[in-house]
Amino acid sequence: MRWALVGASTIAEQFMIDALRATGQDVAIVVSTSAARAKDFASAQGIAAATTDLKAALADPAIEAVYISSTNEKHFAQAMAAIGAGKHVLCEKPLGMTLDEATRMVRAAEAANLVFATNHHLRCSGSHRAVRDLILAGRVGRVLSLRLFHAVHLPENLRGWRINDAGAGGGVIPDIAVHDADVVRFLLDEDPVTVVAQSTSSGMGEGVEDSAMSVWSMPSGTMVFSHESFTHPFAGSGLEVHGTEGSIFARGVMTQQPVGEIELVTKAGREAVPYSPHNLYVQAVRQFADAVAGKGQVAASGRDGIKSLAVALAVRDAARTGSRLHVTYGDLA
Ligand code: NDP
Repeated sequence: MRWALVGASTIAEQFMIDALRATGQDVAIVVSTSAARAKDFASAQGIAAATTDLKAALADPAIEAVYISSTNEKHFAQAMAAIGAGKHVLCEKPLGMTLDEATRMVRAAEAANLVFATNHHLRCSGSHRAVRDLILAGRVGRVLSLRLFHAVHLPENLRGWRINDAGAGGGVIPDIAVHDADVVRFLLDEDPVTVVAQSTSSGMGEGVEDSAMSVWSMPSGTMVFSHESFTHPFAGSGLEVHGTEGSIFARGVMTQQPVGEIELVTKAGREAVPYSPHNLYVQAVRQFADAVAGKGQVAASGRDGIKSLAVALAVRDAARTGSRLHVTYGDLA
């Protein structure tokens, strides 16, 4: 497929252009709000065309799909424009700033019979898929609790809008809690019902939170604890799933790389769990292209993106109000 990139972004530069090309996609044009940035980005990435005119880029009938990786407040208008022009859309998380935005995007794509996916990379990783397989196979019995450790040290080159611009969708909750919501939904195959939360700024966030901890209840009774931060240099990431028959310890797996170790502990002892080391973003693009070809499902759908946003918004509101809140998913999810 021929693609337009909307947003001259770090994620496109570091992961997505390679992933698109690795699956045989043609990255034809980059759209930026800055002519200079568009031109520099295109030249550095070997992209033939660059523009600030989204409408003109979308008017090209040869463009079949659009990857949106602008700052979060731009996703809605750009996705609606792409859908209006009849393009399939792979959109970065969070899909929008509000549940209403996300719902309208997904509804528009479904009405137009277009493929729409959310770029939740973690569910594309071999490690997370191996953990899910262990749960599905009953290796831990009934899941009692799940703990997510996603406190990272934000790289210096990303310390812009993420840590100081609420209007652009900054803050660790829209940035990381949204991924964690998707991980929990993917692993447990159920949607959080209520959340309690606290958030703070612990050194990086200016006007937005850079750290959050929350506890979620699930329909099955499983309890979930989730910790996100931008300010932890040495914490390491991971997740633990504790069940009546065993526990899974997955260390270093909340990341963009296919790395980390998984251990299953049961009464039989400890065993290392192997997993596929494939590239997470290549997997996401491959499933997207297959879905467009009518040969499968996207890794994370638009509805998955609505739900992860709904949980993140509930975490934010619960932290602000100090109340236990029911997650509202809207009428599409
Ligand atoms: P960046 O800050 O790198 O890029 C976001 C936008 O900022 C770009 O689209 C560009 O705007 C603008 N920009 C880029 N460089 C400059 C600059 N030097 N000066 C001024 N503006 C600049 O963001 P990320 O790549 O980190 O994130 C983009 C999106 O992707 C977000 O929605 C984020 O949540 C998501 N993301 C997802 C990840 C995943 O694994 N799924 C990982 C990382 C991010 P313009 O559009 O005008 O070119």
